[in-house]
Amino acid sequence: MSQCRGTTKKGDRCKRDSPQGSEYCSIHQDQEVRERTRTSKVEEWDRDAIMKAALGFAVIGAIFLFRFRGR
Ligand SMILES: [Zn+2]
Repeated sequence: MSQCRGTTKKGDRCKRDSPQGSEYCSIHQDQEVRERTRTSKVEEWDRDAIMKAALGFAVIGAIFLFRFRGR
């Protein structure tokens, strides 16, 4: 067991123990998730690129669909 890395609403270091395999206690689990999303910039970019690619495929698909219907 180690000390929770979360911070209280006052800005103090949380004094609770974190469960094994986690750096945050049960009430600061959400802070751990926020920390991960902030640090993983590459993942964020990947998601953005995937979204753009999906949008591009959707547009191409729509164009093909309209051309097919137009005949
Ligand atoms: Zn905590």
